[in-house]
Amino acid sequence: NNRALQDTLHRIDGQGYGTYREIRGTHQFEDFRLSVDKVQVDPYAPPSLMRVILEPGVVGLPAELIDDAAGRTAVSDFLTRRFAEAIGDHARSAAEAGKDSAGKGSAVSIGTPGQQVLERTSVLIAEDRIEARIAVELPASGRRIRGRQAARILTDQLPQIVDAALKHKNLDAGALAEHVRLYRDQQSLREQLGTAGLVGFVGAGAILPRRSGDSDAPLKQGAVPFIAPDSLRVSFDLPSGLSVTGMGVPEGVTVIVGGGYHGKSTLLRALERGVYSHVAGDGREWVIAREATSTIRAEDGRAVTGVDISAFISGLPSGADTRSFSSENASGSTSQAANLVEALEAGSTALLIDEDTSATNFMIRDERMRRLIADEREPITPFIDRVRPLWTQQGVSTVLVAGGSGAFFDVADQVIALDEYVPKDVTQAAGEIARSDAATGGDTDAASDAADVESAGQELIFSHDRRPRVPASTALAERGKTKPATARGRSVIQYGRERVDLAAVAQLVDAAQTQAIAHAMDRLAETFDGESSLAKAVTALLARIDDDGVDALSPHRGHPGHLARPRAQEIHAAVNRYRHLQLAGGGHR
Ligand code: ADP
Ligand code: MG
Repeated sequence: NNRALQDTLHRIDGQGYGTYREIRGTHQFEDFRLSVDKVQVDPYAPPSLMRVILEPGVVGLPAELIDDAAGRTAVSDFLTRRFAEAIGDHARSAAEAGKDSAGKGSAVSIGTPGQQVLERTSVLIAEDRIEARIAVELPASGRRIRGRQAARILTDQLPQIVDAALKHKNLDAGALAEHVRLYRDQQSLREQLGTAGLVGFVGAGAILPRRSGDSDAPLKQGAVPFIAPDSLRVSFDLPSGLSVTGMGVPEGVTVIVGGGYHGKSTLLRALERGVYSHVAGDGREWVIAREATSTIRAEDGRAVTGVDISAFISGLPSGADTRSFSSENASGSTSQAANLVEALEAGSTALLIDEDTSATNFMIRDERMRRLIADEREPITPFIDRVRPLWTQQGVSTVLVAGGSGAFFDVADQVIALDEYVPKDVTQAAGEIARSDAATGGDTDAASDAADVESAGQELIFSHDRRPRVPASTALAERGKTKPATARGRSVIQYGRERVDLAAVAQLVDAAQTQAIAHAMDRLAETFDGESSLAKAVTALLARIDDDGVDALSPHRGHPGHLARPRAQEIHAAVNRYRHLQLAGGGHR
């Protein structure tokens, strides 16, 4: 307990809200320090930011769990979850005892993680200290300070929560070690995928379906556990000594087929989330994708600035140069082409594409249409003609869901059929169908053209030096922008007066990532120099996070806010969707 802080809060009870300023600074408690970094200016402002700082000995984390970055990420995630739980437990028991716990729920929060284990700012594990970064809604009645209630929250409840969540005597050492083991094993498997020639892995027994469209929790009843087909079965040895078996999704072109409602999209979505590691009990613990995997979908209406989509679209009737394509309102096909090219720019080596969220004319053009509309009149070269060169020339793999068209049989290395959620390797049968059609000159679509291009090797579509896009030094400048960019939930960044819409960015999973990306945009705006490419600038920023943690993105010293590490892909996605993005050398609109 801290008598001085309690006295201050009692003294300012009933005064104007601004007087809460007086508690800024550090307060020594029995076995932690409370650093009040930012006091909200009024009761409706975002909550006040405080750090609970403990000596490492008080928490007593086993050294072998925090001797590598993966271990620290997992321990930090574990302690964040424990802290959030302790807040909830405390609020519940206070409610049962009929005591107020600062109204509904709790005044204290730490930003509850979802199903993914992400590198977060919420708990810092440093050599000399452990810090819990919390937010506290300082209570008011009207605009007057409720000092006695604030004292109960900060000098009574908070120490109890800290005690339950962070003190060594209450630490569940077994659960902690298990959390770290799982995460290290998952990270190791993700790193092993490349050498194994795989883009992804789905463990036998995995539960892929989710409870509902707006829940990331596993489906409770009737979920069919994943079964790996024999021909695609692989095993991995993990650092803990365990090994896992499941389906390997090989590099190259993989097509997922099957009747409607047989689980195709669910499998693809699980792979899409496989770029992150999931907590025990999620069902997707062993669904792992390579880090640089991007979902590519149509997103009509998005803004595009200076993207070279000429591999897919050229000779638009408007005469627009698609080697530097800009639009304030891209169509289904141009937006999907831009999403794909931007993903390559961000370094992606595997693409995930679902027919449900694709523009049909971007994906395929059938033989009849090719006969009616001459190729020269059609600006779009469909993805089916590009998917092989993407792999053979660029080393970029594709996993594609196509239940509605067999056209992709011609270009697939693997075809996986889902039958009532059970995958079967039907590569051979699909290949036979494709070959027999080609022999009879039947409905081959244009895939044979694609094969021709590949075998002749004449057209190097993706290997010419694509001009990297270079943001102007004013790339993200908005006149009159004075406030830092901020996240509004998971899917929107308020950037000056501009709203950057990230609703279609499928692998952005946590509002704390969005907030980190908002800061990243501000940091990038400071570093764009009109000389180096967007990809370089983002890489440099991520290197800084490697060195200094996600804290490095925050504009403040002390409490950085609740941030989680974003991938390069999602940072690119946000910059690319900014409607006033400017490129050096006139790539802007
Ligand atoms: P498709 O893309 O083949 O049309 P979806 O992936 O959308 O099918 O799945 C259809 C429905 O089946 C969804 O409600 C999904 O949650 C459910 N589902 C998917 N996989 C499983 C599974 N393994 N067990 C039980 N239900 C599943
Ligand atoms: Mg589907």
